[in-house]
Amino acid sequence: MKTIGYACTSADAPLESYSFERRAPLANDVVMEITYAGICHSDIHMAHNDWGFTLYPLVPGHEIVGRVIAIGSDVTKFKVGDHGAVGCMVDSCQHCDQCRRGEEQFCREGNTGTYSVPDRIDGSITKGGYSKHIVVREEFVCTVPEGMDLSRTAPILCAGITTYSPLRTWNVGPHSRVGVIGMGGLGHMAVKLAAAMGARVTMISRSPDKEKVAREIGADDFLISTNAGAMQAAANVFDLIIDTVPVKHDLDAYMPLLDVDGTLVIVGQVGPWGEVNGLPFLMGRRRVAGSPIGGMRETQEVIDFCARKGILPECRIIRPEQVNEAFATLQRADIPFRFVIDMASLSVPEAA
Ligand code: NAP
Ligand code: ZN
Repeated sequence: MKTIGYACTSADAPLESYSFERRAPLANDVVMEITYAGICHSDIHMAHNDWGFTLYPLVPGHEIVGRVIAIGSDVTKFKVGDHGAVGCMVDSCQHCDQCRRGEEQFCREGNTGTYSVPDRIDGSITKGGYSKHIVVREEFVCTVPEGMDLSRTAPILCAGITTYSPLRTWNVGPHSRVGVIGMGGLGHMAVKLAAAMGARVTMISRSPDKEKVAREIGADDFLISTNAGAMQAAANVFDLIIDTVPVKHDLDAYMPLLDVDGTLVIVGQVGPWGEVNGLPFLMGRRRVAGSPIGGMRETQEVIDFCARKGILPECRIIRPEQVNEAFATLQRADIPFRFVIDMASLSVPEAA
């Protein structure tokens, strides 16, 4: 089927209007008309080829919600008119041990990312949610609980699951002391989710102007990472730190904040770390770990958790033609919320 979206053709090119084909739905496919797509910082990294594996033309977007407009003959979970949600993966082998555990992000054959990787079925390059339509096998489409505000649901599909998964892996609950580094799309969701799990939550930020919002969305404390005295006074106070910083940065500043046996989980930076001092690791049996997105079972779980707890991401809705402006703003790293593109306002291509 013909559709339309926004794509960039090189690391320096802006996103521009782009027409392309989606595959005709297979028996287990769901066809969605996309209503909203969140802008993740990963979309910017990929558009600029920061990680070196971008395939152009690139249609970004892996925080997607929409309305089902057609289904294949074997689809059982959806009917036309339902709402559905797609995150960072659209396929996996479905038979390895990790897929069977519902941890398709660790598929032994490699999961199929929502954009910029070869599709397992036809080898075409996958294209993401900055588009009018998407065709995805039903196992990779989540259901959206009745009554959930669709305009604020999309960021749960990446910012939500990427922070929920480590909070669950490290058993965060009312006993936990959680620090979150970086108050952006991921960081603000980490605060909301950890607070909803009953943890004591501290936002660790370079931006003093974000304190008010941080406290409004559930942070108990606000630690300014550039204040050496405040950082020293906060030694040994966290069981878990979720680090969402998007660039290479100094871990030495944060490790002493962990209590004995505490863990700092990197979910932000992809790529080589800066030089790390082993002393705080040894002296407090502290650990550093990483965590990527989450499996489909857990992605559905975080959507349902948010619906049950009344949690929604903080969003600024923009029109598709404002996407380059939003990228530029996000790169300045000064926004404690998610931009979400109103994809429904994109005009439908002829003969779609
Ligand atoms: P974002 O909205 O831009 O937020 C990042 C925040 O980090 C900023 O708001 C800022 O918060 C802080 N920050 C930025 N530059 C910094 C620096 N040089 N030093 C210290 N802090 C800095 O980005 P996002 O969408 O949350 O994404 C964050 C990162 O997670 C990106 O690298 C993205 O690619 C990655 N990601 C990973 C996964 C995964 O599977 N693990 C999934 C999604 C995204 P303050 O102003 O509060 O300091
Ligand atoms: Zn993302």
